[in-house]
Amino acid sequence: MIFAWLERRRRAALLATPAPPEWAETLHREYALFRRLAPEARARLVDIARVLVAEKSWEGAGGFDCDDRARVVVAAQAALLLVGIEHDYYDNIDSVVIYPAGYRVPGGRVGPDGLVVDMADRRVLGTAHSTGAVVLSWKSARAGGADADDGRNLVYHEFAHALDMLDGVVDGTPPLPDRQTYRTWFEVMTKYYERLVAAAARGRRGTLLDTYGATNVGEFFAVATEAFFEKPRQMQRRLPDLYATLKLFYRQDPAGWPRRARG
Ligand SMILES: [Zn+2]
Repeated sequence: MIFAWLERRRRAALLATPAPPEWAETLHREYALFRRLAPEARARLVDIARVLVAEKSWEGAGGFDCDDRARVVVAAQAALLLVGIEHDYYDNIDSVVIYPAGYRVPGGRVGPDGLVVDMADRRVLGTAHSTGAVVLSWKSARAGGADADDGRNLVYHEFAHALDMLDGVVDGTPPLPDRQTYRTWFEVMTKYYERLVAAAARGRRGTLLDTYGATNVGEFFAVATEAFFEKPRQMQRRLPDLYATLKLFYRQDPAGWPRRARG
């Protein structure tokens, strides 16, 4: 396709120029996990983030000034999910809308149009729409970047929904390579989803997986993604087959990353 060819050329031209020098400083200061990645992974992440910044429509809302720093911090975290996999830069997402903090969604919660709404303290921190927008709170997106080990990351969560939606349905299952992988995925994810639902019903707060993941299978995948990147050693030890399944999908091994910055 001509269009795909033009797109590839445009991307190659963009990546042939060096990243803006302030990017490295912003990422070192604002994105704790970035400092732990190996040089090759850092380079891949920055390249993906540059394409996301260039090709998505970035919009500030509610008075938020969506400046270069905000775009870099959000795009880099979104890029982490893609570093190991074959992808097309969240082809299903056209725009990223950033509010200063939590915001209220006009008209309420989940609708049949596939609107996914994440509630926290009755205010919404982030949503991913099947119509092509990811909506985020800057306060939460920034806090998520600053802390690499608290198990929570709004940007990973929302972009995991975007991956889930690539096949058109929000069912906790992104597109997978073959039937065997689907079978394993379904088995393992269902087992842990049901466990989390049972734990939530007993009123137990999830320690490793946030009980918000018991809301539905779509939320389970998003919450499991947060824990996979933010509590990988604990997940590998306590939920080894869940860790292995996510590792197979993301083709990354965060449990092997150093706990401290490489410098
Ligand atoms: Zn969610």
